Amino acid sequence: MSMKQRVLIVDDSPSVLKILNDALRNEYQVSVATNGEEALAFAGTQNPDLILLDIKMPGMDGYEVCRRLKQEDATRDIPILFVTILSDIEDETKGLEMGAVDYIVKPISPAIVQARVRNHMRLKMHQDHLEELVRERTRELVDARARAEQANQLKNEFIVNISHEIRSPMNSILGMTDLVLETGLTPKQRECLKVVADSATQLLGLLTDLLDFSKIETGRLVLEKVDLDPHKIFDSMLTAFRAKAEQKGLGFSWRIAPDVPGALQGDPARLCQLMHNLLTNALKFTRSGKIEMECSLANDGSPAETVSGQVTLKFSVKDTGIGIPADQWERIFDRFYQVDGSLTRSHGGAGVGLAINKKLVEMMGGRIWVESVPGQGSCFNFTVRLPRSLPAPPLEPRVSGGIGNGLRVLVVEDIQANRRLFQLILENMGCRVTGVENGRLALTALEQETFDLVLMDIQMPEMDGITATRAIRDSTAGHWNPRIPIIALTAHAQAGDRQKFLEAGMDDYLAKPFRANVLLEKIDRLLMSQNANGGSGAA
Ligand code: ADP
Repeated sequence: MSMKQRVLIVDDSPSVLKILNDALRNEYQVSVATNGEEALAFAGTQNPDLILLDIKMPGMDGYEVCRRLKQEDATRDIPILFVTILSDIEDETKGLEMGAVDYIVKPISPAIVQARVRNHMRLKMHQDHLEELVRERTRELVDARARAEQANQLKNEFIVNISHEIRSPMNSILGMTDLVLETGLTPKQRECLKVVADSATQLLGLLTDLLDFSKIETGRLVLEKVDLDPHKIFDSMLTAFRAKAEQKGLGFSWRIAPDVPGALQGDPARLCQLMHNLLTNALKFTRSGKIEMECSLANDGSPAETVSGQVTLKFSVKDTGIGIPADQWERIFDRFYQVDGSLTRSHGGAGVGLAINKKLVEMMGGRIWVESVPGQGSCFNFTVRLPRSLPAPPLEPRVSGGIGNGLRVLVVEDIQANRRLFQLILENMGCRVTGVENGRLALTALEQETFDLVLMDIQMPEMDGITATRAIRDSTAGHWNPRIPIIALTAHAQAGDRQKFLEAGMDDYLAKPFRANVLLEKIDRLLMSQNANGGSGAA
C-alpha cells in the first residue's frame, strides 16, 4: 500500500481544525499546528505535501508564515492554501503573489476542501514527477558530456601517440634520404629520391599539424620565449616560398615595415608556422595573380603596452584567389571546417591549419581574422603581442664552436636506425662518433674514453636519459668530466619537458625528427657558448 500524502493544517481555532481534519483524515495523513512558529517548525522538519494556512492568527499571521516558508529551500515548493473568512483577506491577490496556490473561504464546505486539496495534490505530484524527470535528464546529460570529453581526450592522446610513432621512422627516412642525396647519384636516381624527400616532408608536415592540434586540445602546447628578430626569421621561409609561388606562375612580394623592432622575444618557430600556414593556403587557393605578405607595427598605444614594453605586430597575407563568402569568415577558423566546394578536396588538407593558427595567435595575445571578396581574393590578418628583448651585450665576432675536426661525440640512443643516422650525419662533419644504446652503457663509455659532447635520448631501456644525465653531472660518480655538454634528444616534447631536461643538467634539447642542419647548429652554438664561458667544451 502506498503511503498516504501528508497535509499540515495551521489554524488557531479548534473548531476549524476539527472540520478540516474531519474532511481530510480519511484520504490523507493530517497533522495540525495552532500558530505560526509551530507551523514553521513542523514544515521545516516533516516536509508535508500541502499546507492549509489560516491568515488571521495571534502572533505571526499566515502571510508571514507563507513568506518565511517561501524563503527556505526546504519548504519553498510546498503548496499553500489559505483558509480564511472573506473579510480577513486584505487584498485578494496578496496571498497568491506571495506564492500561495489557492484560497478556501470560511464557512468551510468539506466537499470543497476535499476537491481543492485533491486538485493541488495532483498538481504537486505532476510537478514532482516533472522535476524528477528533469533531474534525471540533467544527470544523463552531465554523464554523457563527461563521457564525450573523456572520449575526446582519449582520441587526442591517441593522435599524439600515433603521430609520434609515425614520426620516429620518418626521422630515419628523411635523414637517410638527405644523406644519400649528398652522394654521387645519376640524374634519374636524384630525381626519384627528391620525390621521396618531398613526399616525406609533406607527410611530416601533416603529422606535425595533427600533433600540434592534439597538443593544443589537451593543453600541452607551450610557447618558447627566446630573442628573435622579425626582419631575419622569415628570410629562409619566404625565399623558399617565393620559389614555390613562381613555379605556379604567381607573383610573390613581402615587406616588413622598417619601424618593426629587431629585438623582440617570442617563439620564432611558431611565428614561422603561422605565416607558413597562411602562405600555403594562399598558394593552394590562388590560380593566377599574386600573393603579398606584410608585417607592420600595430601598437594600439594602450598603457599595458607602454608599461610592459610590449609590441603588437600585425601580419597580413593577401591573395588573388577564389575568396571566401562572408558567412564563412568566422567558421573557417573552427577545427576541421572547410568551405564547401572549395578546392580543398582536390588539394587535400585536414582543415586544422587555421584552427591551429587561431589558438597560437590567442596564446600570443593577438587575434586572427579574414576579409575577402569571393572570386577576387582574400586577406588573412593576425596580430601578436611580443615583449621587447633586453639589450644584448655586444657580440664577439662569431667563431665556429669547433664542430668537426675530430670532435668526439657519444650518441646514446636505443633505436639502432637513429643511432646510425646520427653517426652518419656527424661523421660527415668530421666528428668521431661512438654509439651506445642506453644510459648505463653511456656511463661505462665515459669511464673508458674521453668525449667532447653527449647526445642523449630520453626514453631508453635499463637507464633513461634523465637518470644518466644526473649521474654524469654528479662529479663523485665517475672519472669523466661532469660538465661535458649534453643535448637531449626527444621524440615527444611536451609542456614542461624543457624545464625537466634543463633541471636534470642537460644543456639543450632537440626534438625528433629534425634536419641535420638543425642538429649541427645546436652543437655549434652550444660549443661556442661553452668556449666563451671558459667551459669544458671541445678543445
Ligand atoms: P585546410 O587548408 O587543410 O583545409 P585550413 O584550416 O587551413 O585547412 O583552412 C580551412 C578552409 O578555409 C579551407 O579548406 C578553405 O576552404 C578555406 N581557406 C583557407 N585559406 C583560404 C584562402 N587563402 N582562400 C580561400 N579559401 C581559404
